[in-house]
Amino acid sequence: MQLLHRFEDSFNVYFTGIDDGDARDLVMRGVIEKELTAYTGREVRLATLHQVHSGIVHVIGTGGAKWVEVELADGDGLVSSAKDVGLGILVADCAPVALSSPEGIFSAVHAGWQGVLKGVLPEAVRAMRLAGASRISAYVGPSVKSECYEFKGPELREISKELGASVVGRTSWDTVSLNLLESVKQSLIMAGVSQIEASDACTACGEYFSYRARKSEERHLMVIVPVGGTG
Ligand SMILES: [Zn+2]
Repeated sequence: MQLLHRFEDSFNVYFTGIDDGDARDLVMRGVIEKELTAYTGREVRLATLHQVHSGIVHVIGTGGAKWVEVELADGDGLVSSAKDVGLGILVADCAPVALSSPEGIFSAVHAGWQGVLKGVLPEAVRAMRLAGASRISAYVGPSVKSECYEFKGPELREISKELGASVVGRTSWDTVSLNLLESVKQSLIMAGVSQIEASDACTACGEYFSYRARKSEERHLMVIVPVGGTG
């Protein structure tokens, strides 16, 4: 697991690489929690979801559902303000999105085209604001890029109607594609998040697990965790 991004709001974002193997296995064996505990110097519990390409977001450790309940819950977004919780999202091509705020409220979102269309990003932003977040910053991890993501049909029209023509791209072999990163950015901007950074890496043509390109069964994990401070 490597450091992928450092938010100024005192959150780190980590990402498991291809050399780490299937992240689901690492999660099951408690390897991720051990590493997060070592990196942060505090006992960290990892929250993950049964991801279902939905708009469902769970708030944990702030008066919402308990961590144990969330672990097996269906959903695609997690929000928390707990200092001892890491929020994890499993991906192979879909965009993993980390959100931070100066108030210490943070989020991890699984954003494929279905979740984006179902509003999973504005839902996470809304939950963060309800919990007291003001200025929200976003980081988008490695995902399948426009030049490698052939896409057609009524869904593409639906996404571009919702988020604008800029989400329609071309593949490197010159067919119509979906620019997933652009649709994530547009969805965040419409939700009022303007501070957005993103990884340039493409999971399909880079050294990553890719369901689209290689039918990979393995997954990467992106996890956002609070760092620094006490408690
Ligand atoms: Zn690519």
